[in-house]
Amino acid sequence: MTVLVNPTALSDHKVRDFQMLIGGKWEAGTAAPIERIAPSHGVLVSRVPGGTKADAERAILAARNAFDHGPWPRMTASERAAVLLKAADLIAARAEEIAFLDAIEAGKPISQVRGEIAGSVDIWRYAASLARNLHGESYNTLGDGTLGVVLREAIGVVSIITPWNFPFLIVAQKLPFALAAGCTTVVKPSELTSGSTVILGEILMEAGVPEGVVNIVTGTGPEVGAVMTTHPEVDMVSFTGSTGVGKLTMANAAQTLKKVSLELGGKNPQIVFPDCDLEAFIDAAVFGAYFNAGECCNAGSRLILHASIADEVVKRVAELSKKVRVGDPLDPTVQVGAIITPQHLDKISGYVAGAREKGADVAHGGEVLDLGMGQYMAPTILSGVKPDMAVAREEVFGPVLSVLTFETLDEAISIANSVDYGLSAGVWSRDFDTCLTIGRKVRAGTIWMNTFMDGASELPFGGFKQSGLGRELGRHAVEDYTETKTLNMHIGARTGWWAAR
Ligand code: NAD
Repeated sequence: MTVLVNPTALSDHKVRDFQMLIGGKWEAGTAAPIERIAPSHGVLVSRVPGGTKADAERAILAARNAFDHGPWPRMTASERAAVLLKAADLIAARAEEIAFLDAIEAGKPISQVRGEIAGSVDIWRYAASLARNLHGESYNTLGDGTLGVVLREAIGVVSIITPWNFPFLIVAQKLPFALAAGCTTVVKPSELTSGSTVILGEILMEAGVPEGVVNIVTGTGPEVGAVMTTHPEVDMVSFTGSTGVGKLTMANAAQTLKKVSLELGGKNPQIVFPDCDLEAFIDAAVFGAYFNAGECCNAGSRLILHASIADEVVKRVAELSKKVRVGDPLDPTVQVGAIITPQHLDKISGYVAGAREKGADVAHGGEVLDLGMGQYMAPTILSGVKPDMAVAREEVFGPVLSVLTFETLDEAISIANSVDYGLSAGVWSRDFDTCLTIGRKVRAGTIWMNTFMDGASELPFGGFKQSGLGRELGRHAVEDYTETKTLNMHIGARTGWWAAR
């Protein structure tokens, strides 16, 4: 059994009505609002304007105007950094309000969201530090007659499209870096979790971001997002979401050759050798699989276990899974909250049913949980999974752990690399050679060694293969939002084309 924490009615909560931010003005929108039913409580908690194609176009033109004629790209980096630092302070001051909203709109445990907001504050501050370190190169080595200077210029108007699973953290991985570079932006949060991004808009206006520099258009992907990926006045698209929509985004952006940055899905393995610190790993297995209810691009959804320890590991992971507290995300002791929508819950349980039909065993969980309101899924472990099963290859995006086994290191690497994704991986061993071999041969953007899902603003993040294109965070993150321009300068008399003949 799992420890269940039944949600209590949201009787104190007043439904929040949000607006869109276009060209520095708040707008209610003309189309019907999008209502958000809390996945944890099954009641209406917020409404955002249903943005239209025309709203998206106006926002893009506002961003274009702010880039071409406004003060933001022309300010000193020091001035931009000051605004970003002020924004970070204001985020910290409104952390509880933001955390509450993300918790009820996304069903995420409140204690976890508090950590995400603190992490976001750190990223905004880190981006401010990078703003002042953005620079190009100079070449004084090209002969007496030439001086070469390579400039880093802001790329222009950036469309930022984010998913529902980390509403506030993911926009923090993009927006402050685009702003640090001097870009102007149109931001579209997921239609399921827009509230915290709209609050960010309020914060940025208060921090002194000039009008038109950050526009926030709420609405659906096909209506608002599609325009943001095709409009000729957009120079770059920074997208985080599913691999399917990522591919569509790239195809759309190709029509006008926009730069694209894509953070997509994952099917991340934890590879476990018998000589590891098993106690530490068991905790990381449970954390990796059930954190954010498994609705996490980095979820460690595949355990690849050495066959000699598989039975013991499955038993111990199942025992710890029983202690995981599932339920009301507003209870600070809860570790696993609600599933984002009823449709998504069906999809997750469909994967579990499909795996059982193909011969996998349920070592723990497997069932939908009835907590009186909202939608919840039991932490689930499937043993006896084969590498060709859908549950082992596709992103389930729920609290479902697939257990596979290996005999040799080469086999472990081959299973780890056998999926279309390559976002992250973990390796557990006390042997230096084993860890480094896995670290070098597994094709993923992040490899954790004897830990899982740690991160820092300084460390680049992104995927190999169909997990994405480009990297976020780290010291090069601001450069992603720039173009390089070469100034090739001639000194002294120039030998003309004709004169040289
Ligand atoms: P999604 O692809 O359905 O939606 C992501 C965003 O794209 C939303 O804002 C959505 O409205 C928008 N969108 C949908 N259709 C669009 C279109 N035609 N044109 C433009 N925009 C469109 O993803 P989701 O369900 O919100 O999020 C879950 C996915 O995100 C998972 O696959 C997960 O792995 C991925 N993700 C990846 C990372 C990462 O950093 N690699 C982080 C978090 C989530």
